[in-house]
Amino acid sequence: MKQWRIGVAFFYHESHSFVREKTTIEDFKREGFFKGQEIVDVYTGTKTEVGGFLDELALDERFSVVPLQCAAAIPSGVVTFETYEEIEAGLLKELKTAGQLDGLLLALHGAMVVEGLENAEMSLINAIREEIGESIPFATTLDMHANISPLLTECSPYHFGFKTYPHIDMYEQGRRAASAIMKHLGQRKLYEAACIKLPMLLPSVNMRTEEGPMKRMMVMAEQYEREPDILAVSVFGGFPYGDVKDAGASVLVIAKDKERAQTVASSIGEYYWGIRQEFLVNLPSINEAIDMISELEEEKPIVLADIADNPLSCGSGDTTLLIEAFLNTDLKKALIGPIADRETFEQCRKAGKGARLKLSLGGKHYPEFGRPVGLEAEVLAITDGIFYNSGPFNHGLKVDAQGAAFIRSGERDFLIIGRPLSANDPALFRHIGIEPSDYRFLVLKAKNHFRAAFDPLISKVIYVDAPGVATNKIVQLPFQKIPPGLWPINQEIQ
Ligand SMILES: [Zn+2]
Repeated sequence: MKQWRIGVAFFYHESHSFVREKTTIEDFKREGFFKGQEIVDVYTGTKTEVGGFLDELALDERFSVVPLQCAAAIPSGVVTFETYEEIEAGLLKELKTAGQLDGLLLALHGAMVVEGLENAEMSLINAIREEIGESIPFATTLDMHANISPLLTECSPYHFGFKTYPHIDMYEQGRRAASAIMKHLGQRKLYEAACIKLPMLLPSVNMRTEEGPMKRMMVMAEQYEREPDILAVSVFGGFPYGDVKDAGASVLVIAKDKERAQTVASSIGEYYWGIRQEFLVNLPSINEAIDMISELEEEKPIVLADIADNPLSCGSGDTTLLIEAFLNTDLKKALIGPIADRETFEQCRKAGKGARLKLSLGGKHYPEFGRPVGLEAEVLAITDGIFYNSGPFNHGLKVDAQGAAFIRSGERDFLIIGRPLSANDPALFRHIGIEPSDYRFLVLKAKNHFRAAFDPLISKVIYVDAPGVATNKIVQLPFQKIPPGLWPINQEIQ
């Protein structure tokens, strides 16, 4: 006989304040919008937060899952108020009709920006609290790039940030969040939390947790987590393209008592603040990057990562300055992509496999970051663009590129897809017959997530400072709403 009914929900968006297009309900419906049993069908067996919730709850037969509503869209522009309202109303309706719940698990990103709201996730949590009441425990999972409010801990102590970047511990944090609620209910293990915000907004390119300053932060977090009175420590890098009052880095600690949580959070925060300069890195320009790779002789492919047009940082995935510069060299045996270009994909699809055609590639969204590139190419393959992630990042999740075309022009191959997607999983290429490890150069629309699956295939990655919406030079962005004195935007407080 089940004793505790646990609601499961997901509302996930990372919003860029400075891109032109807004994110609408269609973007969520296209990407992932599920209710009730569909949630269990889609996420069971995936290495996602919801996959983690479901697996952990299944370990103890006293708990049953009440799937509510899941909505996720790819990182993109600010979410329209109507979209947020519709998704929130849908979730509240599910909560209303779900019957008595004993706990709630909520997967959030933490860097959603909604027109007209100061902090979208807090608005959502407050609305949920109003619906379910004050006494029902809930837990969240949050992206490492969340811009969280310090008020978050007043609604619940249970918040679990990803500890890896590339984010390959979504599933694990989902399990931890579920476990916290299960222990809260079953064993009366109760905790409190403290969160401190640091007055710094950091670019994410040097936040990988395999090396560098963020690795040290995560090692420190895990050391504290080994202490018996600490349940979890989350270190958030923040999301530097969200122009919001709560933008920036933070530390959140869950401990047996509030004072202990506060002391640990302050101590970690002090160290974090002290190493902030290490997060700022200068990247090679397009020409410098091309000079660098021209001199390299490597056995495995060399990657040029066009980080400023990384779709998972809200890039359109179709800018061309780096591509054009590469095509003007005599470097061969290259794979370029994925380029998000619906028009070009349709041309290739209509022409069919084996056709040769003149194309005007990319450069459709931001002409200031490169005009369309003219080239003649042969269509080698066409697919519907549907594949399943094979690497550690979001493993097992179905991805729909909305069409894919594999084309060849001389000794350069291209993957064209129907909508923006980062080159994060080799299955994006392999599903259409491209083997990334066969090339000498990979010119990819990607930042850090791709390294979870690609590092074994490649020899070297060069992050290129090409212009684009997800530029590493965040001090140049036209911020208006972030707090005054946020380092390094306002250099005075260095
Ligand atoms: Zn992230």
